[in-house]
Order: sequence, then C-alpha cells, then structure tokens
Amino acid sequence: SELYVTTSIGISIYPTDGKNVDTLVRHADIALCQAKNQGRNTYQFFESAMTAGAIERLRLETALRGALQRGEFRVHYQPQVCLANGQMEGVEALLRWRHPELGEISPAQFIPIAEEIGLIGNLGGWVLEEVCRQLCAWDRAGAAPPRVAVNLSIAQLERGDLVRCVCETLLHYQIDAHRLELEVTESMLMHRTERVIGTLCNLRELGIRLAVDDFGTGYSSLSYLQRLPLHCLKIDQSVVRDIARDANGEAIVRAVIALSKSLGLEVLAEGVETREQADFLQREGCYKAQGYLFDPPLPAAELARKWPLADGAGHRRCIA
Ligand code: C2E
Ligand code: MG
Ligand code: MG
Repeated sequence: SELYVTTSIGISIYPTDGKNVDTLVRHADIALCQAKNQGRNTYQFFESAMTAGAIERLRLETALRGALQRGEFRVHYQPQVCLANGQMEGVEALLRWRHPELGEISPAQFIPIAEEIGLIGNLGGWVLEEVCRQLCAWDRAGAAPPRVAVNLSIAQLERGDLVRCVCETLLHYQIDAHRLELEVTESMLMHRTERVIGTLCNLRELGIRLAVDDFGTGYSSLSYLQRLPLHCLKIDQSVVRDIARDANGEAIVRAVIALSKSLGLEVLAEGVETREQADFLQREGCYKAQGYLFDPPLPAAELARKWPLADGAGHRRCIA
C-alpha cells in the first residue's frame, strides 16, 4: 500500500512574535494549528489575531483528549413524535460534554475537533455502547422507546470496522437491529466512495435503519440517493425555520416531502418549535417531527419520566 505524507508548518519570528523560547514555540504552535485548519500541507506565519481563536481551540483540543477517560460525556435523548397521534416513535441520541472548568460545550463545536484529532472512532464507539446499554436498561424496566437514532461521523463511516463494531455492540446488549437507526448527513454522502456505499449496504443488511440528517441544505443528486439503502430523510431545521416566514422555505419543505414519497422513504422534520410549523408539516404530508415544541434532548431518566412507556402500549401522549 502507499503512504502519503504531508507537512504543515507554523512559523513565529523573533523578536516580534515573542522574546523568549516558550512564547515563540507557543505562537509557532498556534500558527501550525492554523495551517492544519487550512487543509494541511501548507505553512502559516503567526499573527496576533490568531491567538484568541487558536488558544481557545488548543484548550478544547487538550481538554477533549482526556474527556472520555474522565467520564465527562453523557447522552441525552430527544423524542421523535408522530404528529397525527402524539406518540413517541423513537428518540435521537445526542452527545453532551461537560468539562469541569470550561462548562457545557456544544457537539457542533467539539465533534469537528474530535474528528480532526482522530478521537471520533473511540467517541462514536462509546456513544453506541452507551445507547445500547441504556436501551437494555429501559427494556428491563419495561419502558423502552421503540427506536434510537445515533449520529455517525464521516470518519466512522470510512473506517473499516464500523459494521463489526455495531454488530458486536448490538449482540452484547441483545438489541434488535431494527431498533437502531444511524444518521448520516447529506454532506457526508457527497463522499460518494464505493467503500461508504458498501458500508451502508452492510448496515442495512443487518436490519439497521439509515436516515439522512440535515437534508435540504446540500446538493444530493437524485440518482445517487436512489442507489443508497435509506429509510428516512430528516428535513433540516434551517428549512423548517422558514415555514410561515418565507415562501421559498415552504417550497423546499414541499419538494423534500414529494421527493421522499417518490423514493419510498419516510420523512421527519427537525427543529420544530411552533404549532404553526407542525400544522403546516402535517397538512403537507410530513407526519413525523422532532423539536422543542415537544421536548429538547433529555437525560435518560427524565425521558422515561416525561414519556412513560408501558410495554409498547402506552406510547401515547397528548400534544398541547
Ligand atoms: P443533529 O444531528 O442535526 O441534531 C439536531 C440538533 O438540533 C441538536 O443539537 C438538537 O439539540 C437541536 N434541536 C433539537 N430540536 C431543536 C429545536 O426545536 N430548535 C433548535 N434550534 N434546535 C433543536 P446538538 O445536540 O447541539 O447537536 C448538534 C450536532 O452535533 C448534531 O446535529 C449532530 O450533527 C452532532 N452530534 C451530536 N451528537 C453526536 C454524536 O453522538 N455523534 C456525532 N458524530 N455527531 C453528533
Ligand atoms: Mg442527527
Ligand atoms: Mg440535523
């Protein structure tokens, strides 16, 4: 096999960028960080404007490296609701990180860093394990949601061991594959490699459901979508936000619903915050939704308390 090596260089200059070795090295490191952010294989001179942003990033990076071992992650669960009858059809698992000094940090901020520093494999594996452990515990208590959706990152999809890892975790916790949904974003599917398609097909053959997250913001080609073994399109929250605000937004919602119908896929709207949005979606033929109108992502215990589930029968809950 071939090995590709690239070099990223950060440069700081004495005496403008620092009067001692420590400062110079630190500033060179910051410039290096910037060079890597620019897609690597390049160099950057230190600029004082870099410090604020880069120091913050470096701090996050350092904090993130030990976070899993220190047990700083939790998983919250957001209900996915049927608009027609108010039943909870499933939940989405969303990762939470609380650092003792930095506080609560958003996954939108730390997931890209985890991907970049090669931590996402371990982190993603932990999420999957934690979700299956929780499902198993809910089952024992007779109060499990029918299904859990877990977000994947592109690095997980491109690694060779995802299918084996998912398979082993399901088996270990005795979880039926149909109860696991994996979410990939529209932009991840742009990496239309045979390996990614192969992995998706293998997951599907196991009985796992596949959803396209953040749909409606990218440029998926129809013929490509048709080739993928998908179950569900999730309409992005930026599109949902435009309902009742912008005729273009409503047109996109209608188009995604029509598209999902013609591809034989389910459709779910994300980020539903108002009754008005929910009513519009239902009128247009999208019957599943997720958003603050129903509940934000909740700790497992709170979810079980607010959405009591008695052995599949009691999934019903009134929507105010
Ligand atoms: P996503 O998968 O599209 O998740 C939906 C995001 O929208 C979540 O943000 C959720 O808290 C938020 N949300 C839900 N309802 C509403 C609403 O009504 N209004 C608004 N404004 N927002 C709403 P969160 O938890 O901050 O996650 C952000 C992103 O981080 C996720 O977007 C997902 O891409 C990523 N992420 C989260 N957990 C994981 C994980 O375990 N693995 C990976 N690879 N990515 C994750
Ligand atoms: Mg998602
Ligand atoms: Mg989304």
